Amino acid sequence: MAASLKPEEIESFRRLLVDLDDRLRGNVDRMTDEALRRNQNEASTNLSNVPLHMADVGTENYDQEFTLGLIENEQETLKLIGEALGRVRDGHYGRCLECEQPVARARLEALPYTRYCIECARKLENPE
Ligand SMILES: [Zn+2]
Repeated sequence: MAASLKPEEIESFRRLLVDLDDRLRGNVDRMTDEALRRNQNEASTNLSNVPLHMADVGTENYDQEFTLGLIENEQETLKLIGEALGRVRDGHYGRCLECEQPVARARLEALPYTRYCIECARKLENPE
């Protein structure tokens, strides 16, 4: 079983999470800007709606949707980071939300905002 984290280890993960949070926010802002600018370049007459030009469905729109997909993923990650920082504050950071056992350090290093230990993550992904 993985050992619990020492306070200084939790602190270093907290810094990592804050850093990641800052970086992702920077990315989301930049990508949102780019996606919006592209919408405006299409000279849509109705900016309140996402333009839907069936005839124009092509690489451009694909790129844009791809970017919007990335933003969604990043927002999901930001949510997980926010939750992880909440667990740092209330002293539960580094514990699996499912089985409440300490999450392996190597897993936290790879995914500092993870909610689950590897066993539970696998079980939740592939319920039998
Ligand atoms: Zn678990």
